Amino acid sequence: MTPPEDSELLLLAQKGDTAALERLLLHHQSQIYRFGMKMCGNPEDARDVLQDSLLAMARSVRNFRGESSFSTWLYSIARSFCVKKHRKSRFAPEEKSLDTDAGPEIARLEDSGRRPDAAVAALEIQEVIENAIRKLEPAQREVLILRDVEGLTAAEVGDVLGISVEAVKSRLHRARSLMREYAAPALGIAPKMEAIPKTSTCPDLVTMFSGHLEGDIDSTACAAMEQHLQDCERCRNTCDSLKKTLSLCRAGSGPEVPSAVQESVRHALRLFLTSRA
Ligand SMILES: [Zn+2]
Repeated sequence: MTPPEDSELLLLAQKGDTAALERLLLHHQSQIYRFGMKMCGNPEDARDVLQDSLLAMARSVRNFRGESSFSTWLYSIARSFCVKKHRKSRFAPEEKSLDTDAGPEIARLEDSGRRPDAAVAALEIQEVIENAIRKLEPAQREVLILRDVEGLTAAEVGDVLGISVEAVKSRLHRARSLMREYAAPALGIAPKMEAIPKTSTCPDLVTMFSGHLEGDIDSTACAAMEQHLQDCERCRNTCDSLKKTLSLCRAGSGPEVPSAVQESVRHALRLFLTSRA
């Protein structure tokens, strides 16, 4: 999980090399900011989560023993700050809009004098995915973000959240199913689902396919699923739209950390590091 460069920086940082520590932390700022944006749903909270997380990591880097992976450690810290934000705002994230996030990007496109259709379409798709993620219950949202957006393994997600792998997977199956429901119609990838009746032989395709992604479906069950997909247009639609939705979750890796945020985070980090030197 941790690239070699990270582990070298980590070793140096743990020996007290503040330059290495700063490089290591700033190297992960986009990852933490993206996670904060998706979890909290607004740039102000994402900025606070980023800054608080980096300072907490700087404070505790010497205690990181590598029992968990670096990513697991990083997300555990970032998540704890998201949860704090969440409590303070009385479960507000669902109501807050991410529109402000798309704003600058749209403005930039308009500034250039033309709006490339592909770029605009990509922004709209991104927005559909963001909206769908925001509609999830917090417990499902964090599992989906960590597994399907950030790409942690189910076991790592369990470590971050302090829950069993089974609990991760059951939340994940539900979250994926809801994501498909929320996102697929807006993306135009669930054509006329309602027109095709569900047959009595239709399996719970979404859970099966989600289980398949987690490596939990044996080859016999997998073959049966494939066979059913060949014969059943409804389930084929479901499966295709699920695949597409999940691939868009992964592809939608933005947003970049705004330069003003990078600036202030770097400043806070420097202050902290020099005060300790
Ligand atoms: Zn079917």
